[in-house]
Amino acid sequence: MVQIRLTNTRTRRKEDLVPIDPQNVRLYLCGPTVYDRAHLGNARPVLVFDVLVRLLNHIYGADHVTYVRNFTDVDDKINAEAQRRKTAGSPLSLEALINERTAETIGWYHADMDALGAMRPDHEPRATQYITQMIAMNADLIAKGHAYEAEGHVLFDVRSFPDYGKLSGRSVDDMIAGARVEVAPFKRDPMDFVLWKPSSGDLPGWDSPWGRGRPGWHIECSAMSAALLGPHFDIHGGGLDLQFPHHENEIAQSCCAHPGEGFANIWLHNEMLQVEGKKMSKSLGNFFTVRDLLDKGIAGEVIRLVFLETHYRKPMDWSEERRQSAERRLSKWANIRRNALPKDHRPFDKADIDDQVIEALANDLNTHAALTRLYEMERAAKDAGRDQDIEPVMRFFATLDFLGFTKLDIHQQQRSNSVSEAVSDVLDNGSLVESLLTARAEARKARDFARADAIRDGFAAAGVDVKDTAAGPEWSLATGFDAGRLAELARNFGA
Ligand code: AMP
Ligand code: ZN
Repeated sequence: MVQIRLTNTRTRRKEDLVPIDPQNVRLYLCGPTVYDRAHLGNARPVLVFDVLVRLLNHIYGADHVTYVRNFTDVDDKINAEAQRRKTAGSPLSLEALINERTAETIGWYHADMDALGAMRPDHEPRATQYITQMIAMNADLIAKGHAYEAEGHVLFDVRSFPDYGKLSGRSVDDMIAGARVEVAPFKRDPMDFVLWKPSSGDLPGWDSPWGRGRPGWHIECSAMSAALLGPHFDIHGGGLDLQFPHHENEIAQSCCAHPGEGFANIWLHNEMLQVEGKKMSKSLGNFFTVRDLLDKGIAGEVIRLVFLETHYRKPMDWSEERRQSAERRLSKWANIRRNALPKDHRPFDKADIDDQVIEALANDLNTHAALTRLYEMERAAKDAGRDQDIEPVMRFFATLDFLGFTKLDIHQQQRSNSVSEAVSDVLDNGSLVESLLTARAEARKARDFARADAIRDGFAAAGVDVKDTAAGPEWSLATGFDAGRLAELARNFGA
């Protein structure tokens, strides 16, 4: 079996990945806060993890890999946008406007990341579905002496966790000196961070032992990863900008709540996508979105290829020159496919995928080396095509397929209205799906399994993906979603 090696930020070394359970390799990527479209930098961790998951699937089998990426759907920026719509005269309640904003942003995110050829994770938990687990974790941290309540807030006591700062290699005192920390009179230490905060008025809030409130950002990932992957799993990642404070705080929470478990074995961080030497970010205003590029007619696979050219631990820039070079490359591949790959070729098989490409990826996801090897294979496929030799051609296209290059069409029209269609599908059909899920739960409770299974099959036929998780069912609309079939299903089951 090929040995994967990854640079672990925690130990600052390249390490062998030794799965805790090779039957179930588990990984968690911090996902987006869904208040606005993803900018191009936000696509980088998604593509890095997409390559990693493809590699893990290849080596361990797709049924033995669990990939979780969350949506942070409770946040001040989401509330601010909803508030703006209300002030602008929307008749909807603030709650409905918040739901509208998160649903449309999740729809955009799916459409944009799908266009880049990124596979959907196995679980995409939303923070608001795991509030009970967050409250329980906070209560547990208080009981264990790692957190305290003050003025409706719950705060993590950083001095209670001697390893605080290890991931980023800093002591608490260094951090205080270097960081912009929020000074609040009720904090015991300036570095103590919020696990729970009060919610006022009509802002989203949940009842808790500390009053009506909402979770801090960091506890969301600790609670969701524990619920879906357990207290000890293999790989946790995100952009380097999340190393401190977000990941440092996740480690503190999870290790204190589950002592002796160890949380994530390997921490994987991608370097930043930059614009003129500065990190692309919404707050700096130096950003453009994935959708901006797609709308300009740049194919998703072109964007994908530009990203894969640079190793994930190196900073990278988006440039016109790189775009053109990726377009030339994809056109070449499309030409070879047209000329050399028979339309009725046998399906690609795992054994067709090139070993040297796999080895390059297994070496700390060296996508640049994998592409260099692919360019050699490209020449061999071209020559072989001329000689009517199918095997090198099959190997080349099977390997491209494995790397997520399947369309090879640089002129594909990225219809942005398909995105708004996807969003309105979610908004229009959400209540039908929810009522059918309730009908299914009732059928199960009444032990009418035939009825429950019929609803499950109906969902599959209508193109609604449903996953049952510890926190209840999660659903999303698949590409072939059929609103007519869903409506019929709802009529048949009185939902
Ligand atoms: P955010 O919504 O800001 O939390 O970001 C979502 C993900 O994108 C996180 O994993 C960030 O680390 C990552 N990210 C944000 N900006 C960049 C950038 N310029 N380059 C690469 N990754 C980024
Ligand atoms: Zn996180």
